[in-house]
Amino acid sequence: MTAPATPVIPQFFFPTWLVTSGLGMPPVCAPHGAPGPVGVKAKIESSPPKWTYLLLLLGALPYIIVAAAMTKRVQAPLWPVCPQCTKQAQTLKLIGTLSLLMVPASCAGPSILAKGADLGAVVGWLSFVLAVAFFIGGAASFWFADPARVARAWLTNDGAYIQVKRPAPAFCQAVTERLQLHVPVPVPPTV
Ligand SMILES: [Zn+2]
Repeated sequence: MTAPATPVIPQFFFPTWLVTSGLGMPPVCAPHGAPGPVGVKAKIESSPPKWTYLLLLLGALPYIIVAAAMTKRVQAPLWPVCPQCTKQAQTLKLIGTLSLLMVPASCAGPSILAKGADLGAVVGWLSFVLAVAFFIGGAASFWFADPARVARAWLTNDGAYIQVKRPAPAFCQAVTERLQLHVPVPVPPTV
């Protein structure tokens, strides 16, 4: 006989002031619902508007500049992180480091292997594609290793709420209980 599956909560919203006001997050981690996590500094960001992806047609740099300018961020002084969250972040950083180390290796490796063979252009392109892929993979791994991203926590575009995707039910319950303890501080409307 198997235990009944825990229901998956697709997303959960709570006001940003709980994170930033110093009232404090409950001692439960968001993705795993583990009690007794440690609090770490975390930056929670909004996802840039969809239209910014069109700028990728002009190249990576215009997209990065505009997306960074359009992204809202808040600092969480004590974001709850459990040992499993920490392990996930460490694994991602390890993958990121190995992937970045492969960038120079993928530039030099194929050239050495193909030394003397008449495959210069093919080897050059292969090296280039491999190096770019390892670089993007490495950068993405470090990007996902951020504590708020491990927790799948995002700021809404108006900055008023934190959205956690697929949170642990224990986390939702603990946040709801914590909110009921405090009179909500009105969040000023953002333009
Ligand atoms: Zn956790």
